[in-house]
Amino acid sequence: MIYIHVPFCKSFCTYCDFYSEIAQEQLYGPFTEQVCAEIRRRRKELKGEPNTLYFGGGTPSVLPLGDLSRILLTLEECGAGGPYEEFTLEANPEDIAEKGLPYLESLRQLGVNRLSMGIQSFDDELLRWMNRRHDAARAIQAFRLVREAGFHNVSIDLIFGLSNLSDTVWEKTIDQALALDPEHISCYQLTVEGDSVLAMRLENGEYEEAPDDVCRAQYDLLCRKLGKAGYNHYEISNFAKPGYEAIHNSGYWQRRPYIGLGPAAHSFSGKGRSWNESTLDGYGHSEESLSVEDEKVETLMLALRTSRGVDEEFLQANCIPGSVAQLLQEGALIKVGRRYRIPEDHFFVSDEIIRQLI
Ligand code: SF4
Repeated sequence: MIYIHVPFCKSFCTYCDFYSEIAQEQLYGPFTEQVCAEIRRRRKELKGEPNTLYFGGGTPSVLPLGDLSRILLTLEECGAGGPYEEFTLEANPEDIAEKGLPYLESLRQLGVNRLSMGIQSFDDELLRWMNRRHDAARAIQAFRLVREAGFHNVSIDLIFGLSNLSDTVWEKTIDQALALDPEHISCYQLTVEGDSVLAMRLENGEYEEAPDDVCRAQYDLLCRKLGKAGYNHYEISNFAKPGYEAIHNSGYWQRRPYIGLGPAAHSFSGKGRSWNESTLDGYGHSEESLSVEDEKVETLMLALRTSRGVDEEFLQANCIPGSVAQLLQEGALIKVGRRYRIPEDHFFVSDEIIRQLI
């Protein structure tokens, strides 16, 4: 599993605190050089690295096709070339609408077989508030272009749990998303992140977080509507039509090793984590190994976020005695074969459930 972080954005969203620089033409070449150098440096780790390639960001769709193909060629030279079982690129709807069909067709030729579109909302007022570049009409136009270009595995991102998102607008947003009929929907509850504009607004009293019961009701509506439309709720925030569960992201939840390239990218060797510095200037690399205790907690937390759940023996051996029986009785855990999972109607409070287990 390979992840490549493309740290450029044309504008910064209100809620986001990911590492990203203002997108400027003159930065793309040096960035690509550095990623290619990193690929060569880490060629031993990369060699034979199977299955999935994921370009995330930032905004990978701002990167010129020439830079993208240079990175792909370097991966190939180093024994980690395609075709990949899943090759995802995160794309901004405005970039897709602007660059049009030729861009999308080139992406397909380069091997991209899955697009993840950050639509977030179909309400123009909210999109402006989020400081997104696109409006609802552009998002729909971009989605149609993606289909016209022949992409059959498309994910869209939505956000709920904003204090200025009414239930009516939320329901309409879900309906509009379903009308597009994407194979995959990722839906995140808004959280106020440390260095975001929203965190500042919260501190200045210009924003108030949505009450928990409102977020819960929006999440429940989402689960009901997507379930009825045939989506499998396979992870707390992720829904897929059967057979379209994200292979790359599922690897994270199953703690499969992955290699992260580019500034701010993280890697996981199966035993320890490492990460690149969040800077464009010759980013350095740091590492930490995980204690046995860390590993157990992480395995449990990630597995219980998914509908696959956690292995019975592992859970019994690593949880607080009596906690499983108690949660089973409360209906906060269920047993399916030899695995335990959190039922969908308790996903929203999964953090509390996991806290009770460990
Ligand atoms: S949400 Fe995406 S597009 Fe918006 S600032 Fe963050 S990384 Fe950039």
